[in-house]
Amino acid sequence: MRPESLEFLTKLLNTPTPSSDEARGQRVWLDYVKPFADTVETDTYGNALAILNPKGSPKIMVEGHADEIAFQIAYIDDNGFIYFSGVGGHDPSLASGQRVHIHGRHGEVLGVIGALAIHMQDRSKKQDTPELHDLFIDIGVSSRKEAEKKVAVGDLITYTVGFQQLNGDIYIARACDNRIGTFVAAEVMRLCAKSRGKIKAQVVAASAIGEENGLYGAEMLGYSVKPDAAIVIDVGQATDIPVTNKKRFGDTRLGLGPILSRGSVNHPVLVKRLEDIAVKNKIAFQRGIDPRRSGTDADAIFLQRGGIATAAIGVPNRYMHTPVEAVHLKDLENLAVWLTHFILDLKPNEAFKVKI
Ligand SMILES: [Zn+2]
Repeated sequence: MRPESLEFLTKLLNTPTPSSDEARGQRVWLDYVKPFADTVETDTYGNALAILNPKGSPKIMVEGHADEIAFQIAYIDDNGFIYFSGVGGHDPSLASGQRVHIHGRHGEVLGVIGALAIHMQDRSKKQDTPELHDLFIDIGVSSRKEAEKKVAVGDLITYTVGFQQLNGDIYIARACDNRIGTFVAAEVMRLCAKSRGKIKAQVVAASAIGEENGLYGAEMLGYSVKPDAAIVIDVGQATDIPVTNKKRFGDTRLGLGPILSRGSVNHPVLVKRLEDIAVKNKIAFQRGIDPRRSGTDADAIFLQRGGIATAAIGVPNRYMHTPVEAVHLKDLENLAVWLTHFILDLKPNEAFKVKI
């Protein structure tokens, strides 16, 4: 990967961007994308947009969500131990023993999610999986009063672990879901800016807020941007690990290309167009399905304005919603190139409509 792009990806993934407090991450994204765009915009809730060729048509939105799953302080007990709720979908069995940052009004506070030592567990009994509300955070204070000098009910919490190379082009981070999506949207903007004279379309790269707690930013953007077509980039399940059931979840692997899904929200004409572009330009992709909902921002966007042609593309991802989400850099690069080819190929005013 281009060193400047990798540097941006690193900064983007290492900047805590919990759902409902995305401003810091959005700043990093806007600073990177601004030189490639004609204009950048933000809205009331902090969705961020970069626009190229504003008079062009059709209007294509390439969207990812910036927010990551998090926790939120619910209660502080008399001894200063902190209890919390999940923001987005967590596996509670992964949380014990992790280091966290509490994003307080006076700055970042380090904490640990406590766990009962193995020596004090009754291993003769079947262990229950804890609920999140059974777990607690220790910030090394001895009273609620002392804790409240640093943190407050409502503060958001993220794991401390950052972006690291696992091997070769495989990298891990706690929030690949989904800043790899906003990263690709920014890279599409960069690549389109290089060929700006040849582009007939208007290109809108979008970094949305609030996906993990309800596709909120995407719903706002589908309405306010009103694109002719939207391509939603999110993580997609890679099943190339020992414990997955391929009969149920299919065969998708890291490094073999982004996952293009059919069904449900995915507009058939748009999907076919993307598929043809990939084949013509020899870009590797994998096939996926969305028999019901896609579980991405596409579910909110496609319903807007009487129906917006939308396609969800997944970047293969191992260990989704854990602190060690793994992706392959080649999949990110290929996806940015693929979507740029798609945009370059669009005819003026090209429409996406199911023929009856
Ligand atoms: Zn997610």
